[in-house]
Amino acid sequence: MSRPAPSPCSGILQIEQYVPGESELAADETPIKLSSNETPLGPSPKAVTAFRQAAAELERYPDWSVTALRKAIAGRYGLNADRIACGAGSDEILSLLAQAYLEPGDEAIFTQHGFLLYRIIILANGGVPVVAPETEYRSDVGQILSRVTPQTRIVFVANPNNPTGTYISIGEVRALRAELPDDVLLVLDAAYAEYVRHNDYEAGIELVATTNNTVMTRTFSKIHGLAGARLGWAYCPPEIADVLNRIRGPFNVSAAAMAAGVAAIEDQAHEAAAVTHTEQWLSWVTAELTDLGLDVTSSAANFILVHFPAERDKSAAAADQFLKSRGIIVRRVSAYGLPNALRMTIGLEADNRALVKALAEFLGRPAA
Ligand SMILES: *Cc1c(COP(=O)(O)O)cnc(C)c1O
Repeated sequence: MSRPAPSPCSGILQIEQYVPGESELAADETPIKLSSNETPLGPSPKAVTAFRQAAAELERYPDWSVTALRKAIAGRYGLNADRIACGAGSDEILSLLAQAYLEPGDEAIFTQHGFLLYRIIILANGGVPVVAPETEYRSDVGQILSRVTPQTRIVFVANPNNPTGTYISIGEVRALRAELPDDVLLVLDAAYAEYVRHNDYEAGIELVATTNNTVMTRTFSKIHGLAGARLGWAYCPPEIADVLNRIRGPFNVSAAAMAAGVAAIEDQAHEAAAVTHTEQWLSWVTAELTDLGLDVTSSAANFILVHFPAERDKSAAAADQFLKSRGIIVRRVSAYGLPNALRMTIGLEADNRALVKALAEFLGRPAA
């Protein structure tokens, strides 16, 4: 009777709530939204059709085994469908991995400017977040390894990383795996893998196939344009796929998301168009902003990290305000330890041109 109100498990109140990229402005014009790394080309029209068609059977539970989607993914990448686990976004899969492999007090490592979700899911499971410094905004294998202790259970590496856009080579990933203790799970979060255009990059499929302690996660939210449908997957050693299938909700992937995902993964032309568009405009925006005197971290993904001077009138915060006044929403990244930078997603041609024009104005250098 006179007992205190329910209290959450230890660690949970240390979590700072995740703040997503903004999507609205006070003004009533439609903003240019470059804040959440969504594809400006939208999903494949075939995925939209499949999603709509799923409305005809909304009273039915989805296929709990997610077989059609796992087969489509396996077919596309030449994988073993039994080792694929699906989830409501890769966020859910990452959470399930933390839930399954962290006991209270266990340590999990991620990098200095790594994806914020890792800290949240580690704390949510009573784990201890351990931050490995980056070198020039890149994950640093040596720094990660130097943080390993007997308590380490998971290492999360976003590759390419968000919000820096940098990547590490498959050689570096292999070296990390080789030096990590065998009982440490290496999670390769490859949310932007499809965008990478570097010969020394691999998302990690082969490493997963040849080890029993490495998982690669992928998402339909970025290049496939299905962020609103919530769909992700992981390629796992058989034992880990089995663990994920034991703890996931039996119907964690909706029928509509599944149908859209199958159509999206099969529409390779749409995916290729997104890659081409991004490649072209990533280099254009990078070059233009560099010409304006801004420092742009070289990106392998569909967004850029742009650094601003510390002086107040030219700061990242001031630039963010100015862009908003021009109807452009980008991402502040102070929460990622980057108070002097903004993350900007590559948009449609008109969006990119508007972005460069507005930043030129902000810097007092009207474009030619
Ligand atoms: C966007 C993103 C994800 C994917 O999130 P979903 O839950 O699949 O929408 C995962 N990791 C990183 C680093 C991301 O940027």
